Amino acid sequence: MAPRFAQGLLLSALFSLLTACHDAETRQQIDIEGKTMGTFYSVKVSGATTPDPHQLQQEIDALLEQANDDISTYRKTSVLSRFNQYRGTEPQPIAQGMADIILQAQRIGRDTDGAMNITVGPLVNLWGFGPEKQPINIPTQDQIERARQQVGLQHLKLISDNRGEWLQKDLPDLYVDLSTMGEGYGVDLLVNMMMRKGITNYLISVGGAVSSRGVNGQGRPWRVAIQKPTDQENAVQALVGLQGYSISTAGSYRNYFEQGGLRYSHVLDPATGRPINHKLVSATVIATTALEADGWDTGLMVLGTEKALKLAEKKGLAVYLITKTDQGFTAVMTPQFKAFLAPDQH
Ligand code: FAD
Repeated sequence: MAPRFAQGLLLSALFSLLTACHDAETRQQIDIEGKTMGTFYSVKVSGATTPDPHQLQQEIDALLEQANDDISTYRKTSVLSRFNQYRGTEPQPIAQGMADIILQAQRIGRDTDGAMNITVGPLVNLWGFGPEKQPINIPTQDQIERARQQVGLQHLKLISDNRGEWLQKDLPDLYVDLSTMGEGYGVDLLVNMMMRKGITNYLISVGGAVSSRGVNGQGRPWRVAIQKPTDQENAVQALVGLQGYSISTAGSYRNYFEQGGLRYSHVLDPATGRPINHKLVSATVIATTALEADGWDTGLMVLGTEKALKLAEKKGLAVYLITKTDQGFTAVMTPQFKAFLAPDQH
């Protein structure tokens, strides 16, 4: 499958040309781009000195390759695929990183009453959004019901002991799909790499998950744009500054298929077993880690505007929701999100 463009978020490099440079210090900036997880990544680093880009890219690729080997359902031999193929119920060893993703997914799953559900794999595959091919026919209610019986966070147990981390299922056909949090996980891996290297000016994206800190090569704070929910690549809805936080957008407007005049989104509602069918077209979340932002955006997307906003307010989340109306689109944000808007956006 061809790599997709980052959904929902545009990098600030697009806008730096529009703004005057006001930092006299001579800075360098390196831009690295590559492919991973069926999408693109981008790493920009700036400073008085910058690392060797070739060497940095090799380290980035090695980290992201390891992530794919751990959690990709698109690789038959990944740790996760082997867990999914395993038909027994004994605990299976997993890496610490994968355990971190699952722990976070379980928390968000509970908080969203199962709307964000990493055991949704059988439904994802049934609807043709996973590694298997697109369906020629829409699944029957009977097929959906059968797949739903294989879904449920209660069937998945994370075990941590002095020998390491383990994952256990009590349904042999349980299929864990970490696609919804993989990009955020990838961003966090790269952010941690920057921290280890003492790099404090960076802008990192993997697909629709982004994190940034410090300033760009012109000495200006990085800005990230939330994209308008249209098929147009670069239409800007709002600009934010992250300063060490991470942002992620889930949307129903890019990854879908159409049949019989209807659109079927790749975001599925585990309660119905069907693609979401409401007016919320994108949910953007800013959080301390990209993993957290990437998990919440899908959960909120499933819930729809009203429930998502209510939950975001209750949990104090920084959230920006775009909803389709008869007149076009309308946006609503929590006060926590407003604090991240670029100064000219308030
Ligand atoms: P998000 O909204 O973040 O997530 C949507 C995805 O999550 C759906 O596609 C589905 O898989 C799952 N999902 C749907 N409903 C729910 C729900 N209610 N709760 C939880 N999850 C749900 N794609 C390729 O085409 N080729 C590849 O080689 C490839 N490799 C990948 C490797 C890794 C490690 C990962 C993590 C993903 C890979 N992908 C690949 C998938 C890909 O890029 C996904 O489309 C992407 O991760 C989904 O993210 P998103 O931001 O588009 O959507």
